[in-house]
Amino acid sequence: MSQVAISKQEYRAVDIGSLVEPIGGMARYVSKGDRVCLKVNLLQASDPSTAVTTHPDVISAVAKSVIDAGGEPFIGDSPAGRFSKKGLKDAYDFTGMTAIADDLGIELNYDTGWTKVDVKGGKRIRRLKVCDFALGADRIIALPKLKTHVYQVMTLATKIMYGIVPGAEKARYHAVYPRKQAFADMLLDVLSVTPPDLFILDGIMGMVGNGPMGGDPVDTGVLMASTDAVAMDIAVCRMLNIEPVGVPTLKRAKFRDLWPDSIDYPVLTPEDVMVMGFKLPSGAGHIATGKRTPKRSPVITERCTACGRCEEICPKDAITIPEDRAVIEYEKCIRCFCCHEVCPDKAIALKALGKRGARF
Ligand code: SF4
Ligand code: SF4
Repeated sequence: MSQVAISKQEYRAVDIGSLVEPIGGMARYVSKGDRVCLKVNLLQASDPSTAVTTHPDVISAVAKSVIDAGGEPFIGDSPAGRFSKKGLKDAYDFTGMTAIADDLGIELNYDTGWTKVDVKGGKRIRRLKVCDFALGADRIIALPKLKTHVYQVMTLATKIMYGIVPGAEKARYHAVYPRKQAFADMLLDVLSVTPPDLFILDGIMGMVGNGPMGGDPVDTGVLMASTDAVAMDIAVCRMLNIEPVGVPTLKRAKFRDLWPDSIDYPVLTPEDVMVMGFKLPSGAGHIATGKRTPKRSPVITERCTACGRCEEICPKDAITIPEDRAVIEYEKCIRCFCCHEVCPDKAIALKALGKRGARF
């Protein structure tokens, strides 16, 4: 039986002890002297109030709990786009992670090295480039954020480990697996490479709408802890009144027999913390209504500042910036929405395709 501990919490008073106690306490997952990777969601340099990244109050509380258990925590992730020391520094600074690392005297990972490893039992991939920071840890505690995702509906525990794939390599897999279900299968393969010892989900402030970057923050008020990523994501779906198999990684988990036989909720149940009317991404309406939503396409709006991030990440080289605004070549576009994910100015809208291309 899988266990998911759920508690109502607030930033500034995050209590990890009471959250993990019902599932064995932190000492069950961390031993004295362990080097513990806190695998955060560090999608990109964003203010914590935008709900794009794991909130520093949660990371700080988990780090303190690890230190109390005798471990040596460090913070690590590979953000979207180029995996560089400068990119990491900007992301750590903006998201409040530098401040808490300084405060607690813990390390921020700046090692951008990677190693190619075998993916044992992988359904889609046999070999994978994996960041050295993850391979070198004795323990991994993953700290996913409760967010919507324009391509995979939700980004939760089953997707958090995609950040062990270095930088732009992540976008490349969109071109290799342009279909949602195959991509989700690949995500489950990645999860199996360095499976976290524990997941602690930051759902105190979640994201609705067109996440993981362009959505809006929403008060969801919970923290969750589990050793089982699938069970945790099912719990989130129940809490949000979403059909779990509407999330591609969960659909594939069911198909691959990774579904838990049963889930025990030792504290609160998902129904105790239910959030009604949670707004999914614009293309995921069918999950709630059963009606197919039209295919969407990325559309560059006048907010574009020609920063070049979308051009850099596009796995199909479908974006150019001839003058002062990005332009998409729709014949090449596979609608992976990597461009939407990295745009720092919310300058990419998602619109239905008309007969002659995107409707502006
Ligand atoms: S669409 Fe966004 S990411 Fe692309 S160039 Fe414009 S501002 Fe930058
Ligand atoms: S234009 Fe955007 S959605 Fe289309 S392939 Fe490039 S990154 Fe993906």
